[in-house]
Amino acid sequence: MAANGESQKTEVSRHQEVGHKSLLQSDALYQYILETSVYPREPESMKELRELTAKHPWNIMTTSADEGQFLNMILKLINAKNTMEIGVYTGYSLLATALALPEDGKILAMDINRENYELGLPVIQKAGVAHKIEFREGPALPVLDQMILDEKNHGSYDFIFVDADKDNYINYHKRLIDLVKVGGLIGYDNTLWNGSVVAPPDAPLRKYVRYYRDFVLELNKALAADPRIEICMLPVGDGITLCRRIS
Ligand code: SAM
Ligand code: CA
Repeated sequence: MAANGESQKTEVSRHQEVGHKSLLQSDALYQYILETSVYPREPESMKELRELTAKHPWNIMTTSADEGQFLNMILKLINAKNTMEIGVYTGYSLLATALALPEDGKILAMDINRENYELGLPVIQKAGVAHKIEFREGPALPVLDQMILDEKNHGSYDFIFVDADKDNYINYHKRLIDLVKVGGLIGYDNTLWNGSVVAPPDAPLRKYVRYYRDFVLELNKALAADPRIEICMLPVGDGITLCRRIS
């Protein structure tokens, strides 16, 4: 299992190449997961989108292939049909979702940046799942506020994936808890925030990591104390907290 320096370096650079993130302490182990059970089962369209995204300057934002596989599996397990995604970027998690839903499944997808969504859109169209997606350009919060006003949206979502501005997660949660159905799931992404949630106060963190860390810490505490949900925090990708609405 101990790799020599050269092969370790190759693994690290391979991860960086594709913008992957993992909290696993062993790069060799993470590479093993990818090569043994993720890449061999990754749909061709997701591979194409992953490779296209890897060339984009902000590729660090993409959902990793193992998390994409996880999302696809969980959506099928809960028979999700009506879903929402906040934070699309080039659409890797969106495609993982669209492929998991039935033909008449729906995803309300929101992002302030349409350009990046349109980079990935041809791949999503080629995969034959674009008809499941309603993309809305703009900040998600006002859309949620509008939706809340209509009773028929309450309790109507099977699954909601939140992967956008971390300083708004608490605000999203206040609205999403009404929009997700009882028994449905909300997934908050990046809840381990580069591992910074356990970094000492004087740790040398990148500026954006430090800025959002307090919001992530606050969210994690709030979710753990919220009696309306059951939670499960998983060390997949950069950490994802699944919240199952129970009341
Ligand atoms: N889920 C995506 C994927 O699989 O590639 C990654 C999303 S990326 C980490 C975060 C996204 O959130 C960015 O594309 C950004 O434009 C978007 N975003 C930031 N603030 C937002 C807001 N207020 N409302 C909606 N989207 C927002
Ligand atoms: Ca993410």
